[in-house]
Amino acid sequence: GRPWELKKVRTTCPFCGTGCGFDLNVRDGKIVGVTTDASAPVNGRFLCVKGRFGIDLVHSPERLTTPLIRKNNELVEAEWDEALELIASKFKEIKNKYGADSLGALSSARCTNEDNYVMQKFMRVVIGTNNVDHCARVCHAPSVAGLATSFGSGAMTNSIKEIPDSKVIFAIGTNATEAHPIIGTKIKQAVRNGCRLIVVDPRRIELVNHAELWLRLKPGTDIALINGIMQIILAHGWEDKAFIEERTTGFENLRELLREYTPDKVSKITGVPEEQLYRAAEIYACAERAQIFYTLGITEHTHGTDNVMSLANLAMLTGNVGKENSGVNPLRGQNNVQGGCDMGALPNVYPGYQQVTDPGVRRKFEGAWGVTLSAQKGYMIPDMFEASLAGQLKAMYIMGEDPATTDADSNHVRRGLQALDFLVVQDIFLTETAKLADVVLPGASFAEKTGTFTNTERRVQMVNQAIDPVGNAKADWKIICDLAAIMGHHFDYEAPAEIMKEISSLTPQYAGIRHERLGIKGMQWPVFGEDHEGTPYLHKDKFTRGKGLFMPIEAAYAKEMPDEEYPLLLSTGRKLQHYNVSTLYSASLFEHAPEELAEVNPLDAEKLGIKDGEIVAVASRRGEIRSRIVVTDKVLPGMVFMTFHYKDAPANFITSGACDKVSGTYEYKVCAVKIKKI
Ligand code: SF4
Repeated sequence: GRPWELKKVRTTCPFCGTGCGFDLNVRDGKIVGVTTDASAPVNGRFLCVKGRFGIDLVHSPERLTTPLIRKNNELVEAEWDEALELIASKFKEIKNKYGADSLGALSSARCTNEDNYVMQKFMRVVIGTNNVDHCARVCHAPSVAGLATSFGSGAMTNSIKEIPDSKVIFAIGTNATEAHPIIGTKIKQAVRNGCRLIVVDPRRIELVNHAELWLRLKPGTDIALINGIMQIILAHGWEDKAFIEERTTGFENLRELLREYTPDKVSKITGVPEEQLYRAAEIYACAERAQIFYTLGITEHTHGTDNVMSLANLAMLTGNVGKENSGVNPLRGQNNVQGGCDMGALPNVYPGYQQVTDPGVRRKFEGAWGVTLSAQKGYMIPDMFEASLAGQLKAMYIMGEDPATTDADSNHVRRGLQALDFLVVQDIFLTETAKLADVVLPGASFAEKTGTFTNTERRVQMVNQAIDPVGNAKADWKIICDLAAIMGHHFDYEAPAEIMKEISSLTPQYAGIRHERLGIKGMQWPVFGEDHEGTPYLHKDKFTRGKGLFMPIEAAYAKEMPDEEYPLLLSTGRKLQHYNVSTLYSASLFEHAPEELAEVNPLDAEKLGIKDGEIVAVASRRGEIRSRIVVTDKVLPGMVFMTFHYKDAPANFITSGACDKVSGTYEYKVCAVKIKKI
């Protein structure tokens, strides 16, 4: 075609894990718009404000277009050869001096499966360490760990297309209207179709307006609440006895534990009236089918994995798993956070969740990659910053992540990054993390490369190149392959389709996935072979692990609760117009939502003598930031809610660095703060 003619290229949204499909409209090598048609499997013609308008960030004047090297304490432009040679020589020097485990990498949910696969292979094959992790650690690692323990597979059990036909939806810790807007729309569609919606959230989120029942629990009391609901179910004989008998194990241990969680006691702990606990138990347990949806309100706690296993207990107790409209559904955050996990960008598993400590698995990957692999699990993200401060981690290679902004207690994270001998950041913008780097490499955006994203419902979908990379930017997989070649390892991929072939050959869930099979609809893993069409819902006749495992979970609470000095409880989350920090580079979205608006209850505002719209200081033991406040009863008395999107009100300066003991996920949802007039 002629360059001035309008070209449409179908691709997958780069923001949230819903995985909407749309056409990038391209003219003269530039994206001029986004359009949809009914063929997109998840969203049809619909998009949220981010997918519709946020794509202008691709042509942002702030894009990185050339490599940068730090000279005399300033980042200056450099050629690719110079930048890659420098990285190769520093990585080799550090590895020779301190060993392979003194290097670590962060891979990215913003990058394709092919990019993630090549990154973890680079760290394992070229560097020789399992020190590779990605941002699932700060969001849904408890889902991976918890659901893998209970069911054997740490992924969303059902499909988005089932939502409108749901009979009962139990939505806990998920503000789908803002964080997964198209899924939020489908939940409301289900309500219009007669679905009974139970919302569990301390905050008056928009879904509350559509709910039959709103359980306004105190933040961090989820386990007590779920145990209380299960106690009522058992007391009334509403459990599914046949399902428990045939499909599960460990029930007696759970029954024993639940004796203590009487409705009056649970009501006191959670703040939810007993009558509402009864109604929730009855609606959920007596439905023909019921499904659970949850997001980071469940996972981002020091007991996040326990929260997830509690929800799995509730589903198994009532036989609500292994059927359409009946399951446990973590809504994964970023566009490809599921895929980053699937690709083994994690310190304990290779692609397909195959354990690095299993000698048989290791032999398989050694055979495929032609090297001897480390048998030792690597560092999780929080451990990397601790190891850096302790002088054990000397270099990091960070692709598509900005931990200096997005990780909890980010002043501590910054100190960890600054303590490194050598930091490489590969990104599309000069992020706060990139500003600390010794070398910055310009990556191509999703519009400038080909590959796949895996959405929250396990659907692997094509990302198709629509325009040339801006300036001298390059696709992430290509940059890593070029660096590997300089370091003596030739990965030899001509195109991302070849990387996917290698992924399929080593990853059972992806065995039948090939780029040429994906078309517009994509495929939902597991896809067992080239003649298999994929799996819309999991655990049909048996759980991935065989029998589902009931785990008796004692109630646990947040690590840092309000006290005399810091009397308010801060919880963080997202807002509709932004996706983490990346959409701040979208001029149109920024115009829609230009500043942080911390929510404070009217009773607290009165006590503090602060007014709606006033700018205040919000301080925790870790730091202090400034924010405008809105006075609203969306939050409970004693509670403050903030997003983490804005550079001038960086909420993660004050959030708590306490982590879930199993998964290492930060407790973004609860910490103690105070508000001061300024
Ligand atoms: Fe769809 Fe999420 Fe993109 Fe919005 S941000 S268009 S809901 S994938």
